[in-house]
Amino acid sequence: MASALADKLTRLVKELRGQARITESNVQDMLREVRMALLEADVALPVVRDFIARVKDKALGQEVLGSLKPGQTLVGIVNRELAATMGQGVADINLAAQPPAVILMAGLQGAGKTTTTAKLAKYLIEKRKKKVLTVSGDVYRPAAIEQLQTVTRQAGGAFFPSLPEQKPLDIALAALDHARKHYFDVLLVDTAGRLAIDQAMMEEIKALHAALNPVETLFVVDAMQGQDAINTARAFREALPLTGIVLTKLDGDSRGGAALSVRQITGVPIKFAGVSEKLDGLDVFDAERHAGRILGMGDIVALVEQVTAGVDIEAAQKLAAKVKSGNGFDLNDFLSQIRQMKQMGGLSSLLDKLPAQLMAKAGALDMDRADKDLRHKEGIIQSMTPLERRKPELIKATRKRRIAHGAGVHVQEVNRLLKEFEQMQGMVKKMKGGGLMKMMKTMGG
Ligand code: GDP
Repeated sequence: MASALADKLTRLVKELRGQARITESNVQDMLREVRMALLEADVALPVVRDFIARVKDKALGQEVLGSLKPGQTLVGIVNRELAATMGQGVADINLAAQPPAVILMAGLQGAGKTTTTAKLAKYLIEKRKKKVLTVSGDVYRPAAIEQLQTVTRQAGGAFFPSLPEQKPLDIALAALDHARKHYFDVLLVDTAGRLAIDQAMMEEIKALHAALNPVETLFVVDAMQGQDAINTARAFREALPLTGIVLTKLDGDSRGGAALSVRQITGVPIKFAGVSEKLDGLDVFDAERHAGRILGMGDIVALVEQVTAGVDIEAAQKLAAKVKSGNGFDLNDFLSQIRQMKQMGGLSSLLDKLPAQLMAKAGALDMDRADKDLRHKEGIIQSMTPLERRKPELIKATRKRRIAHGAGVHVQEVNRLLKEFEQMQGMVKKMKGGGLMKMMKTMGG
């Protein structure tokens, strides 16, 4: 692994290296970085403060697990705490009501309510096999009613018409009656939004809520709203017993910090994420993936943990013990290292975990070739006899040709592998549990 990606990883791991436990002094610097990342991701300041305090509490004095270094442990805590704050598992839509299950959509104008209503209709029709009716209470904007009609049709749902001169409450009750009589499973109620929080609008949606008794009251919020999301969320939470959040426009370039703020303020789960203008652009919200996005590291955290910890610490220690005990590191051990790399899903799969901006840089790397290289190495060692694997020094010209032939590669590749093996053997001798990253780097080719 050469170039930008490798540099970045190496630097990250170096930064993460520290002393044996998390202390007040080493935690400060690391938390400052986390705080910056959260603020850059537009998480509201009071939420950041609260979050940092919680992480610090959890982290301080914590023994650093096994061979993990404090930096890694802290990043792990941050990531888990972020994911936990934004919700765990999948919070699916609740339809447990006497049909029709009413879903009330709340949020500011432009947040994506109408689009999301149609997306949900499509989701419920196609994935949950429900019979869905939509209705618009936005009598202030006739265009909004038309818009809902159009997108509902595209979603394959039924639309209950309304007129600008009607009262929202009358419209909603008529729609509910229609849904009952025609055996609809779900009634989606789109509501009027204003550009900003407005008392009359809040009263209106409160009255709608009281009359409809919805099983879900979803707060639709634009992820690009950043710091402002917190005030909007607070106002809606005070007015309505929200049951879930839909975070829209996550396909934009915001880092999505609003998720953390809004979740913290409302205390209700984020159920869906809007990821495009199209009607299939609705994802079930994944808190862990989103935690990575907020930290701006993609799954780099998981990647580093994976590369330096879980997969290998134990094996590396065994190897070190082996070397110490006088049983040298042989090609069987080398093979098991290669298999571990493959077990992690190969290099291209590790690469998939990187955030987009790093991906772009890494694009120059030919990961498929690197994966192929791993497979070749495995094939070469498999073409050796058990004796050759234990005593690689026996492998001279004739054996090399035979092995190359067996693995279907050129003799040069066998030479290269043996040279790498020698280098690694040297490294293993120096290794006492550390130096693993270097070893993995060498293996990447
Ligand atoms: P409403 O006023 O809350 O009903 O908002 P609309 O549903 O009319 O959406 C406002 C604008 O945001 C429209 O141009 C939508 O196409 C767009 N929009 C809604 N959700 C998403 C999303 O998840 N991603 C993107 N890129 N655009 C969205």
